[in-house]
Amino acid sequence: MNVSALARQLKITTQELLEKLPELGFDIGARAIKIDDSLVPKIIQAYKKAQKKELFKEELAQVEERGRPKDKDAGAVKEKEISIGNEIIVKDLAEIMNLPIARLMGELMKNGVMVSLNERLDFDTASIIAEDLGFKVKKSNSELIEEASKREKLQKLLADRQGQEIRPPVVVVMGHVDHGKTKLLDAIRESNVVDQEAGGITQHIGAYQAQAGGRLITFLDTPGHEAFKAMRSRGGQIADVAVLVVAADDGLQPQTLESIAVIEKEKLPFVVAINKIDKDAADIDKVKQGLAEINLIPEDWGGKVICQPISAKFKKNIPELLEMILLVADMETPKSDSQGTAIGTIIESHIDKSAGPVATVLIQAGTLRLGDMFVVGSVSGKIKTMQDWTGKALNQAGPATPTKILGLKDLPEVGEILEVISDKKEFKEKSKSKQKGKKSLLKNNHVQSNDDKDNGNISVLNIIIRSDVLGSAEAIEESLEKIKVPDTKIKVIKKGLGQINEDDILQAQASQAIVIGFHVKENKNIQALALEKNVNILYFDVIYKLLEDIEARLQSIKSKKIIHKFLGRMEVLAIFKKKRDSMIVGGRVLEGKVSKDSKIKVLKNGEVESIGALSNLQSAKEDVSEVVAGNEAGISYQGDPIIEVGDQLEFFQEIYE
Ligand code: GDP
Repeated sequence: MNVSALARQLKITTQELLEKLPELGFDIGARAIKIDDSLVPKIIQAYKKAQKKELFKEELAQVEERGRPKDKDAGAVKEKEISIGNEIIVKDLAEIMNLPIARLMGELMKNGVMVSLNERLDFDTASIIAEDLGFKVKKSNSELIEEASKREKLQKLLADRQGQEIRPPVVVVMGHVDHGKTKLLDAIRESNVVDQEAGGITQHIGAYQAQAGGRLITFLDTPGHEAFKAMRSRGGQIADVAVLVVAADDGLQPQTLESIAVIEKEKLPFVVAINKIDKDAADIDKVKQGLAEINLIPEDWGGKVICQPISAKFKKNIPELLEMILLVADMETPKSDSQGTAIGTIIESHIDKSAGPVATVLIQAGTLRLGDMFVVGSVSGKIKTMQDWTGKALNQAGPATPTKILGLKDLPEVGEILEVISDKKEFKEKSKSKQKGKKSLLKNNHVQSNDDKDNGNISVLNIIIRSDVLGSAEAIEESLEKIKVPDTKIKVIKKGLGQINEDDILQAQASQAIVIGFHVKENKNIQALALEKNVNILYFDVIYKLLEDIEARLQSIKSKKIIHKFLGRMEVLAIFKKKRDSMIVGGRVLEGKVSKDSKIKVLKNGEVESIGALSNLQSAKEDVSEVVAGNEAGISYQGDPIIEVGDQLEFFQEIYE
């Protein structure tokens, strides 16, 4: 392989690679042009390892930076950081760097890039040039912008609703994988449930409430990605207190530092739970030492950081930890206003096999009531049923109450803001305008056909990524974006930390995505579920293998482009049977024909909501192979059981080009 090709793959310049190779233990000479193919995977692995180490160091440095006094120069350094999207026009780049255009053009020419003022540079070229000019380049992240605007929206909505009523504090548990977050949440749930009678039948709805000292505490029960993401996007507004779990036998690890960075950024009060103190290798002082090294001085060492040694496994010191949580929460007693219509944040959402879209909302102001009309992101609905985390039916729910809701028209995204709209006209307008232009999460868009107007000839491969650290999920997404296979596109519909879970599989099934697990453990139950739902899970430990595999998949999608050939359309007049993943419905064929072995698009108000398949066709109670326009037909449908009377079904055949 050429050195330059490998450098491109690693997203560095050839010169940088040649300089880096000896550091990585590969001495191939400073002027080498080719690298032995057998060395390539080893070099990539060594490079990635070194990069990971650097990332860890950077994170550590970031946390250490916290304690240092800010000097004037720090601002100047910060100003040198710029963000660039996938492409940037030359003159815009000069502008964001605040440099004369001639200076930039000169630098471009020096690097052999001959362009005019209005030409576009891709991210790689622009960042190399900008770095040469002394700028730190970050990829602009539209997600971050979206999060910031959501945060602003929530702040605005809550600004007038501060209130004076004391509400339960909301607690989020953070920390490195395997340090015992789940075990701690389980230990608290098991020993401090609010309603002891409900003990055995508690549900996992993304949050629960525990009782301590006669008071309620709301725990966000999603120690993996979701809570993290919601935390990042909503910051201190969703949680009042963080519990940072650190295993006493393992000390501070990369995700501990990531968590500390988030806690600090959000100025979130926190308690450190030093876990696994039952283990022989436990060393509480070493954890404290680690904290002190990054300027988080434990209380008993003269600082302000509250540390509580615990054993989640043996439920040791749990009441003490809860007491500390309340103590920290009381420093700024959480208050809100239970009057008026509800505002909340979605902390969990999934498709229930029989009930359809289900979500858990954490109410932040006001009271949510049965029958309330609401909008949440692009989804609207009317509260049909509400339950608390023990499964108890609720008529209403006030601030800090995690509430499972039914009555959503679609699957809302975690982190979205739920807003109750009491005015019918306003509700209609808001739900209509929000629905427009937004794609349903339930929609099947794995491979978009040639007749898809929005996307021309582009076939989309949907991907869900789970990884051990947030940084690698982001790195994978960035690398995936760089794979260029004509007429295809990758869409990462979800990414996050921790194990692949049931929701990932259900979401993958609904959007026909593939699930990638990077450095995460394989899990038999999830594998079985994936098999049942026909979802592909791919596990990787090495990023270049992952990229190779995805590229091959894109090539195969490209070469096997699917065309949806229209057959006919039917209006649904009756529902005869509804099961977990199938339905029997009847209707009139409006145009074309319905024929055996066709696929079915379910259309609601003209929008495709889901795609399923036809398994049996009847006319006048007889099995037939086709029914033409003007006649009634009964069909067995395999797919999401979401068909309702009045929906239209479009029948088509998939043809491979
Ligand atoms: P998470 O990834 O942070 O949610 O970690 P888990 O809660 O899944 O715990 C990881 C492993 O550590 C599991 O095998 C737990 O049983 C174990 N573990 C958690 N807390 C303790 C503890 O206090 N003592 C001991 N000995 N093991 C624990």
